[in-house]
Amino acid sequence: MAYDSNNIFARILRGEIPCDKVYEDEHVLAFRDIRPQARAHALIIPKGAYVSLEDFSARASEAEIVAFHRAIPKVTALIGVNVTGYRAIANSGADSHQEVPHYHLHLLGGQRLGPLLNLA
Ligand code: AMP
Repeated sequence: MAYDSNNIFARILRGEIPCDKVYEDEHVLAFRDIRPQARAHALIIPKGAYVSLEDFSARASEAEIVAFHRAIPKVTALIGVNVTGYRAIANSGADSHQEVPHYHLHLLGGQRLGPLLNLA
């Protein structure tokens, strides 16, 4: 799948629309989800143009991948879930119900989250 440079997270990265920023460094931006699914819900995204976890894992540089993962404990501390625990979710591709085609890792916590999936 080709990268769509008009997706909403690309527009946030370009400063065209605002976000509730939690953390930023050279390779990574993290912000609060606009429709939180738990008391704490942030998204971490790479600044590079990657469609999904699948794409990021295949094509990103080692520096980008390391920076992304090193950002996780910084963000979980900033949103207050590093001690109590959290769930990290990356929807990747059609079956996953990924809505925004720019790789993002959901970090959810601040409450008991229950079982991983509840498939109909
Ligand atoms: P996914 O279904 O994994 O692609 O998740 C996309 C997430 O992006 C959803 O949880 C949305 O609530 C969130 N989202 C969409 N637009 C924005 C925005 N402008 N700022 C913050 N979060 C957003």
